[in-house]
Amino acid sequence: MTANAPGADGAPAELPPPRRHADSHAGPQVRYCPFCGRDLAVDAFLQEYWTGSTRNFHLWCPNCAAVAEVVTGGDVVSHEPAH
Ligand SMILES: [Zn+2]
Repeated sequence: MTANAPGADGAPAELPPPRRHADSHAGPQVRYCPFCGRDLAVDAFLQEYWTGSTRNFHLWCPNCAAVAEVVTGGDVVSHEPAH
């Protein structure tokens, strides 16, 4: 089924709302390598893309040659064990 294919009742399928440019860049960028911790300077490859509402960063670090996918998450709800 394609995005423009009609629904089961023949009515036009609903398209997702358009993504606003300002929303797509909300939140901080990945600035440091998740492996060596060094700053991802201009020599690094860093590409931001989205899967649905999830922000993903594909990166290559010139300092340690690591390739990584960093996926942003929502809030974490956890508990603190008794001390
Ligand atoms: Zn690195």
